[in-house]
Amino acid sequence: MDETAKRAVRNLVILGGGTAGTMIANKLRHRLARTEWHITVVDRDDEHHYQPGYLFVPFGGCSPEQVVRSRHSFLPDGVDFVIGSVDMVNAEGNVVLLEDGRQLPYDQLVIATGTTPRPDQTPGMLGLEWRRSIFDFYTLEGAEALADALSRFDGGRLVVHITEMPIKCPVAPLEFTFLADAWLRGRGLRDRVELVYVTPLDGAFTKPVASAHLGGMLDERKVLVETDFMVERIDDEQKMLVSYDEREIPFDLLVTIPLNMGADFVARSGLGDELNYVPVDKHTQLSRKFDNIFAIGDASDIPASKAGSVAHFSVEIFVDNFLQHIAGRAMTGAFDGHANCFVESGDDKALLIDFNYDTEPLTGKYPLPVVGPLELLKETRVNHLGKLAFRWIYWNVLLPGRPVPLPALMSMAGKHPATQREKQEA
Ligand SMILES: Cc1cc2nc3c(=O)[nH]c(=O)nc-3n(C[C@H](O)[C@H](O)[C@H](O)COP(=O)(O)OP(=O)(O)OC[C@H]3O[C@@H](n4cnc5c(N)ncnc54)[C@H](O)[C@@H]3O)c2cc1C
Repeated sequence: MDETAKRAVRNLVILGGGTAGTMIANKLRHRLARTEWHITVVDRDDEHHYQPGYLFVPFGGCSPEQVVRSRHSFLPDGVDFVIGSVDMVNAEGNVVLLEDGRQLPYDQLVIATGTTPRPDQTPGMLGLEWRRSIFDFYTLEGAEALADALSRFDGGRLVVHITEMPIKCPVAPLEFTFLADAWLRGRGLRDRVELVYVTPLDGAFTKPVASAHLGGMLDERKVLVETDFMVERIDDEQKMLVSYDEREIPFDLLVTIPLNMGADFVARSGLGDELNYVPVDKHTQLSRKFDNIFAIGDASDIPASKAGSVAHFSVEIFVDNFLQHIAGRAMTGAFDGHANCFVESGDDKALLIDFNYDTEPLTGKYPLPVVGPLELLKETRVNHLGKLAFRWIYWNVLLPGRPVPLPALMSMAGKHPATQREKQEA
């Protein structure tokens, strides 16, 4: 390549080699000429985790080996993979600074550094009881430690707790509760356990119709629900959650979802909101401040669920938009916040919910009208098998950026609007 050609090569830097970053690198490498675009992915390590698998680890349903693979193996030829922690983005100077001093200049930047549980943000959470009677399952180490604690648990008060919204996979704490109920029943321990679900929301979930449905499932399982609970601190001597309005919830075993936050470098770079999420246009995911910075996946502030499915659907829309943007044309794709989440409900069954920015989860069939085979807002064994199959699809189809025969935007085909009764119950 001569000097003129070399200078003409532009740099796309993708921060984060997780779900969104890996899919983007794969899809764009096939669409951008190598003579015109150099693509770099940055991540702090070479371990790609399939995070939905963490849910099953405490119950022995998934081994740690099944959820971790090398990031390298998912990045195509023609993409540079840099292992290093991002320290800052100098957005005025178009350069990324790594903690080890390396600098990566860019023409276009994608921030896909996700969201991370932060137990350090709640007083008392990381005290003497951390990983003794207080656990999380949003990290692999946490899920493994919890598996150990559950195997020794023979009765008492098991409290499942969400610190604050938004969290990634907002249905995961409910799934954990349903699985715990079934797991305890299977061991003949359920009568000796008081199961409590503590949430800062005013119901089981964020969307009214799904919230009523999922709340009903908690009632059926005799789970006590404590709503509107904003935790102020954990009293680790008394083993109690304490809220700002001075309510106290004692526990023998606490399974908490710590506050989730975007990466600290986002704040240091002046690119984030109060939880370090990058403010973007909710349809194009272009930064509101810089027209060469996008944020995709959990790292952005779009008002959609923080979920792998949202990352996947939004990447499908982003790729064509990005090609238009770098060609100097208006972006014509508009992401609708489409989310699609399996909800494990125990006893080898699961529900599926499908929704977007404007439409509530509805009943009906998915992905094909009439045929399904998946059922929306209904517990079935086929849905459970779908959730299990998803791990294979993730590693072999989604991450490598292969086409998935599902529409990226939410479709109303096969769905029934909520009945008046469902709306009233909600
Ligand atoms: C228990 C659990 C269950 C879940 N279940 C489901 C489910 O059933 N369905 C579903 O759709 N979603 C589920 N999710 C959510 C899903 O895993 C995430 O929404 C998805 O991974 C988001 O993709 P992302 O690319 O935005 O972030 P991630 O996949 O988290 O990737 C972010 C990457 O950025 C890197 N990074 C962060 N900071 C830095 C830095 N400073 N320097 C360098 N690299 C950095 C990280 O190492 C990471 O690799 C679940 C999550 C959890 C925790």
